[in-house]
Amino acid sequence: MRYISTRGEAPALGFEDVLLTGLATDGGLYVPESLPHFSLEEIRSWRGLSYSELAFNVMHPFVDDAIPADDFRKMLDETYSVFSHKAVAPLVQLDSNEWVMELFRGPTLAFKDFALQLLGRLLDYVLEKRKQHVVIMGATSGDTGSAAIEGCRRCEHVDIFILHPYERVSEVQRRQMTTVKGDNIHNIAVRGNFDDCQRMVKESFGNQGFLGGKTQLAAVNSINWARIMAQIVYYFQASLALGGPDRSMAFSVPTGNFGDIFAGYLAKKMGLPISQLVIATNRNDILHRFMSGNKYEQHKLEHTLSPSMDIMVSSNFERLLFDLHGRDGQAVKTLLENAAKGPVSIEDYRWRHARKLFDSDAVDDKSTCDIIREIHEQNEYLLDPHTAIGVRAARNCRRDRSVPMITLGTAHPAKFPDAVAESGVTVKPQLPAHMADLFEREERYTVLDNNIAGVQEFIARHWKNA
Ligand SMILES: *Cc1c(COP(=O)(O)O)cnc(C)c1O
Repeated sequence: MRYISTRGEAPALGFEDVLLTGLATDGGLYVPESLPHFSLEEIRSWRGLSYSELAFNVMHPFVDDAIPADDFRKMLDETYSVFSHKAVAPLVQLDSNEWVMELFRGPTLAFKDFALQLLGRLLDYVLEKRKQHVVIMGATSGDTGSAAIEGCRRCEHVDIFILHPYERVSEVQRRQMTTVKGDNIHNIAVRGNFDDCQRMVKESFGNQGFLGGKTQLAAVNSINWARIMAQIVYYFQASLALGGPDRSMAFSVPTGNFGDIFAGYLAKKMGLPISQLVIATNRNDILHRFMSGNKYEQHKLEHTLSPSMDIMVSSNFERLLFDLHGRDGQAVKTLLENAAKGPVSIEDYRWRHARKLFDSDAVDDKSTCDIIREIHEQNEYLLDPHTAIGVRAARNCRRDRSVPMITLGTAHPAKFPDAVAESGVTVKPQLPAHMADLFEREERYTVLDNNIAGVQEFIARHWKNA
């Protein structure tokens, strides 16, 4: 399988190189040159498979000959055995034909574990083969940092440095990062805000001289193709569990950077019958505004009860724009260069096509609280604020009640106890048993000034073979 850039100028790469690359050299994102397509008969034959067997069937065409089949199977078995539920992605019924798929049974209690548990193993495998080492450098305002750290904790060829804004992440989120043990794990609390952290990461990628040429930086943010790939699997899993592919499904997806829902769009293109995909956003609703009025325009960042969806632009949306423009990289390049300067629109017929593919809704904090309370009263089931937005949007946008509507449950409610309390539910969400002692575990992190030279010097001194 070859991968090409959405901006049409960077060289095509194979799977291994795409894994180790962040942005393409032309500023675009890598996508498969062509997608595998599965017949209904083939998908039907996957009924009853374990999650990791299904994952192999769905992902193998993307990995191709980069990893021998037996090694890849073993890697997937290991990856999905760390999830605390046997079904890995269990479904919970809310109402007739309405479901939540719990994607938060992994080590850090958010769906990002599905991709990052695999990504850590993929990286280590490829680096072992190539006798290389990488330093993962990332900035986090919450979920991604802990999932990336958990994903890399056992990697021999990876050191990971995660920057978070000092005293500006929730205590659960901080502890999920700082209590993980491992010589290759380095948490840096920067005396600044999230944007400061992100800027330092970006600048470091642009100039890696501080590493002295002895190792190189790698990115695990949501534009990494392997993360999207891993997220395609659970759409197949949910469908097969509810009578697919012989009936079609609807999915509602709490959306920030458009990664998770883009995976659903790919599942559909690969042959899975999906009749509706709902983009569910919070007040940071650039995607909903685009879908409703064909205007793609950045607004100021709003802080909401669903912080993992607080974004100004959705980086993976570029991958959809590439398809909407008939895979014309030049057109995407021009469009996004203009979008950085002000509002843009696309041709009407292209926008109408996007509207056929997706419905959308934006849900504010009050409605988020209302639906958390309502579902708790009716079902004695606690939603986290991100999943709550998905359920609200699913109900607002639903087209056909005979089609199962599945909301992706992206986080465990115990990660966001304040939002649950704010909704008026008096029950406190409990951390699962494997994390019950989180508040007693020893933390390890270093506080550094908001100064890139100091941060880079710290990294240069502390990676394994420095
Ligand atoms: C990251 C995240 C999202 C958004 O996912 P995208 O792939 O960026 O759209 C939603 N909910 C939770 C809990 C998350 O951590």
